Amino acid sequence: MNGIISGVVFSTLFLIACGSVLALLLVLAEKFILNFGPCTIDINGGEKKLTVSGGASLLSLLASQNIFIPSACGGRGSCAYCKVIVQAGGGEIGPVEEPYLSAEERRGGTRLSCQVKVRGDVAIRIPREYFSVRKYRGRLLAKKPMTRDIVELRIGLLEPTEIEFTAGQYAQLESREYKSHEAVMRAYSISSPPSGRTHVEFMIRLVPGGICTTWVFEHLKEGQEVQLSGPYGEFHLRPTGAPILFIAGGSGMAPIWSILRHMKETGNKRITRYFFGAQTQADLFLVEELRQLQREMPDFTFIPALSNEPEGSGWTGERGLITDVVGRHVPDASQHEAYLCGSPGMINACIKALKKSGMPEEKIYFDKFA
Ligand SMILES: Cc1cc2nc3c(=O)[nH]c(=O)nc-3n(C[C@H](O)[C@H](O)[C@H](O)COP(=O)(O)OP(=O)(O)OC[C@H]3O[C@@H](n4cnc5c(N)ncnc54)[C@H](O)[C@@H]3O)c2cc1C
Repeated sequence: MNGIISGVVFSTLFLIACGSVLALLLVLAEKFILNFGPCTIDINGGEKKLTVSGGASLLSLLASQNIFIPSACGGRGSCAYCKVIVQAGGGEIGPVEEPYLSAEERRGGTRLSCQVKVRGDVAIRIPREYFSVRKYRGRLLAKKPMTRDIVELRIGLLEPTEIEFTAGQYAQLESREYKSHEAVMRAYSISSPPSGRTHVEFMIRLVPGGICTTWVFEHLKEGQEVQLSGPYGEFHLRPTGAPILFIAGGSGMAPIWSILRHMKETGNKRITRYFFGAQTQADLFLVEELRQLQREMPDFTFIPALSNEPEGSGWTGERGLITDVVGRHVPDASQHEAYLCGSPGMINACIKALKKSGMPEEKIYFDKFA
């Protein structure tokens, strides 16, 4: 009996000793192996030199120094927006990055900054516009349902109090922690025109199971403070005289609504058609406002089209897939420019159809809400 008891005591003491040694090893590893100490990030050949504590991703370390690289997926390595050129340091390209980098990009040192761990000095190149991206604190002034699954947010800016952006660009909204979800950053196109510098508006569609959109729909309340950063993106009207085709459905209307209102405010007279694809009448919104804009801008035509509207519902407008409707209105698109916004599936189908109608690929601009 005594033998059994001393055996149990001995095993227990042995396990405690092993646990302590393991804990000590972990502390030492963290102190001497995982602590990478101060590292330098050299930007654009010495234009800026940052000293950071190594160990985290390049994307988050730059953000901690108020340099915000576009990123739409919150650092998961799935949007490929956070590309930077790494000229020195940064380690090898990882498996998450590989599918997003062409052979040419790899040769030139392009990396996804969310996947680059800073464990020593690095030298990078980024576009100078990124230096003007700011982080904003704002207050939700209004949250307005547009359809059963789209809300419009109006956010007044508190600090800084004004934003400068080009119509069509997007900002990143930060959700707050809720239930088991950490705060995440997601990209949302600014739907208000650039003239309203003291606030921004967004149109946000609920993605079932999505972290940020569930927070927007279920937790975000009017009067609450929010954080965002921006502006980002290359989706904006090119300064040519070519006739314009806007094609967007659902919350894809956001940047188009900003561009259209900016066109009106600046007296832009380019021939413009906006094809708004939806399933049924219940999915349409801002129709009266767009019809009003059509009355005020003689060169603008608004064409809503429904793909799944029941027969005999009284709908007298266009019916069918948006690609077919555009094809009927613009059989020869060779002289036009197209601006597409929405889901990757819709955009890919439109690009295919527009190319078939003679539009050169380089005249098709888009923001995929991926
Ligand atoms: C440039 C740009 C502009 C955009 N503008 C707009 C806009 O104006 N309006 C708008 O509504 N949207 C816009 N988006 C899309 C937006 O950024 C978000 O992607 C979208 O709102 C979903 O975010 P979420 O956090 O709710 O979903 P997420 O949490 O990112 O989830 C998205 C989907 O993935 C699934 N998912 C999540 N995690 C996992 C996992 N671990 N494994 C498997 N599946 C998973 C979810 O169930 C869901 O179906 C834009 C995107 C880009 C890139």
